[in-house]
Amino acid sequence: MDVEELLGRLVAWPTVSDQPVTGIAAELANRLEDVGMRVERLDADTPGKCNLVCTAGPQGTDGIVLSGHMDVVPVVGQPWTSDPFTLTRRDDRLVGRGSCDMKAFLAAIVVALARTPPRDLKRELVLAFTHDEEVGCLGSRALADRFAAEGRTLPSLALIGEPTSFQMLRMHPGHVAAKITCAGLAAHSSKPDLGRNAIRLAGKVLDALDALADRWRLDVRFPELLERPFVVMNVATIHGGNAVNIVPDRCVIDVGFRPLPGMAPDALFEELRDAVEPLGDVRAELIRVTPAMLTPSGTPLEALLRPWASSPETAAASFATDGGNFERLGVRTIVFGPGSIDVAHKADEYVPVGELHRAVDVVEEVVARRCREA
Ligand SMILES: [Zn+2]
Repeated sequence: MDVEELLGRLVAWPTVSDQPVTGIAAELANRLEDVGMRVERLDADTPGKCNLVCTAGPQGTDGIVLSGHMDVVPVVGQPWTSDPFTLTRRDDRLVGRGSCDMKAFLAAIVVALARTPPRDLKRELVLAFTHDEEVGCLGSRALADRFAAEGRTLPSLALIGEPTSFQMLRMHPGHVAAKITCAGLAAHSSKPDLGRNAIRLAGKVLDALDALADRWRLDVRFPELLERPFVVMNVATIHGGNAVNIVPDRCVIDVGFRPLPGMAPDALFEELRDAVEPLGDVRAELIRVTPAMLTPSGTPLEALLRPWASSPETAAASFATDGGNFERLGVRTIVFGPGSIDVAHKADEYVPVGELHRAVDVVEEVVARRCREA
């Protein structure tokens, strides 16, 4: 099986977050069964969504997890110059949605295992393919919850092949999404004194959020790894009011912030709530937590990857990955893969052909060294 051809097939599944991933999962499952892996589909509560867990080798032995997400970000409104779901070769680039983020790594895994089937492994190989990574690592969270509830374990090391241009990334901040609802009292705009303006209240909330963000900036951690070594905050959306002649009775703010490893996301949310709720009729809700990730330097996986890496040093990712959820199961992840995060999520996303082929070699060697050698 040619890796470029397989990548083309995977890109052709338009697995944006409002679409199913069961089709691409079935294609991957068939191919991995063909190379002799045990395949388990873990269905989500949402129809059309599932994780895929494939294993080979003696169960419970400490080999490696290779992981990637099957979903991609939307293409709507982006200036694509070719069909995003038809992988198109342009010079040394393979252009298509998900080409680098991160179906290249999925294709590389399948092709590496077809080249050298995972027979007679001494240690367990686990493939964990997830859904809805791009909308908050929902699949890996469900997977971690399920494994924890069932007392199942994973190998202690994981490689997630997000596009890092083969740079080894061993930490990233998490993400917390919160919603703040400001309530007021509607009135005719000719008698504003009879109402309570929810948008004006939201203005006070924004000031309080700014003050909180300034305070969070003072708590500096991991300055050697992070460009912004503190919790960053983003006021992302604001919706309020209905008409120019009505005092608005409701204003809703979506805010996100990024806890660093070792910080308790819930405690940070409590700080946010304590900053805004005393301002009036204000309610803050925690919507979603994506955990941060921190893998100590010097893991055996780092040593295995170093010869392939674009730099001998490890670094931090600015984006969150499924690795934060795997960490809850005691798994130490390195994020390392073909393609560049700078072109992911954009129009004409691409993976360099050479990097795609190199990813096959990386997977083959990592499996050989980690699972075949005693
Ligand atoms: Zn990704």
